Amino acid sequence: LANLLAVRALVERGTEVLGEFGAQVARAEMGAHGVVNAVTVRTWSHPLGHADPQLVEALLAPDLGPFLVRTSCISIENTHNFAGGRVQPRAVLAGIRELAVRHGVRVHLDGARVWNAHVRTGTPLEQLCAGADTAMVSLSKGLGAPVGSLMLGDAELVADARIWRKRLGGGWRQAGILAAADVHALDHHVERLADGHANAAIVAAAAGLARHSVETNIVVVPTDDAAGAVDRCRAQGVLVSAVGPRVLRAVTHLGIDSRDAHRAADVLANALGG
Ligand SMILES: *Cc1c(COP(=O)(O)O)cnc(C)c1O
Repeated sequence: LANLLAVRALVERGTEVLGEFGAQVARAEMGAHGVVNAVTVRTWSHPLGHADPQLVEALLAPDLGPFLVRTSCISIENTHNFAGGRVQPRAVLAGIRELAVRHGVRVHLDGARVWNAHVRTGTPLEQLCAGADTAMVSLSKGLGAPVGSLMLGDAELVADARIWRKRLGGGWRQAGILAAADVHALDHHVERLADGHANAAIVAAAAGLARHSVETNIVVVPTDDAAGAVDRCRAQGVLVSAVGPRVLRAVTHLGIDSRDAHRAADVLANALGG
């Protein structure tokens, strides 16, 4: 809903949003940007999920007359979930900002895991969000709150989002008590994301992955039989998911300590061995 409202506030109907091939806005929102926001989504593809400015610029169509759909927005996911929790490099963010200004298009940050990028790189959150007109952030992922996401933007954009939130059935009067847990998460759990990153590295090593391939708390493992490995892990009390027939995804979270991570790593190594 936060992504939907942010993009809604930024763009005109009948225009297009650019996103990475594996991005949440393109793949995991049930076509909501088409169905509700009346925009199309066109994608570039990068092995690490990066918003490579060269790839993005090749797609940009800010104004080609009444012939081709007008690009209104570039959406960046940081960290990138399906690319394996990858952080967008600083030069990428700067390059996208420069492109957006030069071509007169807006930028949306899908920052469900922007705290992970912050903790991994030490880059201040203000800087990670600086190039974006809107952002969504999630408090229920690595930060461990039971529920809660926010849409960020200037006052005018947020005013529009409030109307559409209500219109779409998200005018949730009772959310305040849950927001207390979000405040707790922000006060106490941000630095603890580093533990999740260290635990993911333990799991990644057991899966035989190169050290640099895991940047935050998501471990993506290529394997011949993802569904089988998921079942073998589950039988040993370790929950991982198959995100494709040959791709397995493991995520560490606030409730996992390093002992758990070592146990999960052993179970995963056995499961991958067949
Ligand atoms: C989970 C997720 C969202 C949406 O978060 P909600 O908790 O459903 O609001 C958006 N973007 C990405 C990349 C996500 O992983």
